[in-house]
Amino acid sequence: MLSTFGKKLALVFLVSLALLNPAFAAQKVYRLRLAETWPPNFPIFGEAVKSMADMADKMSSGRLKITIDSKNKHKAPLGIFDMVRSGQYDMGHSASYYWKGKIMESIYFTTMPFGMTTPEQYGWFYYGGGMQLMDKLYSKYGVLSFPGGNTGNQMGGWFQKEIKSVADLQGLKMRIPGFAGEVLARVGAKPTNIPAGELYTALERRTIDALEWVGPSLDLRMGFHKIAPYYYTGWHEPAAELQFLVNKRKWDQLPPDLQEILRVSMRLSAYDMYIHTYHASAMNWATMKTQYPDIKVRTFPKSVMRALRKANADLLAEQAKTSPLAKEIQASQASYMKKARVWTEISDKAYLDSLAGK
Ligand code: CA
Repeated sequence: MLSTFGKKLALVFLVSLALLNPAFAAQKVYRLRLAETWPPNFPIFGEAVKSMADMADKMSSGRLKITIDSKNKHKAPLGIFDMVRSGQYDMGHSASYYWKGKIMESIYFTTMPFGMTTPEQYGWFYYGGGMQLMDKLYSKYGVLSFPGGNTGNQMGGWFQKEIKSVADLQGLKMRIPGFAGEVLARVGAKPTNIPAGELYTALERRTIDALEWVGPSLDLRMGFHKIAPYYYTGWHEPAAELQFLVNKRKWDQLPPDLQEILRVSMRLSAYDMYIHTYHASAMNWATMKTQYPDIKVRTFPKSVMRALRKANADLLAEQAKTSPLAKEIQASQASYMKKARVWTEISDKAYLDSLAGK
């Protein structure tokens, strides 16, 4: 039997051994709180956030725990950037064009009308200088920003009437937020923003003539296909990328292995959201067409596309004049897209064209 002193000595010995053991020291649990723009259990977007947190938890053997607050909890769906910047939350998931009123240059990191497709834009982010420009924008706010999942090419929206010329856009009341709304206003339409929960009734009662949401992936559950006959192809959000935000002070407190686990979890869940959306759009479109075979898919006529393109170019030029960084980002995107698009045209586009009329 050990004496009391002997027991104490043994205990001190064991504790010292444990503390010297990296496996033991590594068991410290780091907890991060994330605020998302979306309501609880929101499909696809919300699932991407959950999968990121699950991956981080499993890959770190439970050392990195991320809890998610949806909009019902924090009540500030469009205030995610501010909450992460101030440290009220450690992380956020949102879309950067929601805070364009505060930081105008943030719009370039979601998607731009007539801009890059999703594969082109991912090329720009990860290999074409996009991430560096995003760091340049956010570093002065003490925030790190990462791609947070892509919706792919969004549909141009649901219309009650066919659009045959620019004249048909005059006074057209359409729910279309952001930069694209400004472009449409330039050609005579009346963009409005209406909360998601009121959109169906607004379109049904003709309070608005048209609206855009996402694409079949998320439009199906909104039911717009039941009340509007025309589904236009997209021009305004060819590659809408969501955003993960991390408070820089919090990030710096994480050990390097957990930083890497977090980085990989965000990147993988973002890619996966793109794949998930693609799948859901294909399946949901099949469902819509079965339920409502008369839905008419339309593309805006060339005259309308020309007018929208010109308004878009004018607006971009105006923005470039107000901010050197906007000018730099625009130039980077334009030169990258020029090269990437040539490749898209002789690869995916040529392949699909070659099958046409088979
Ligand atoms: Ca949209």
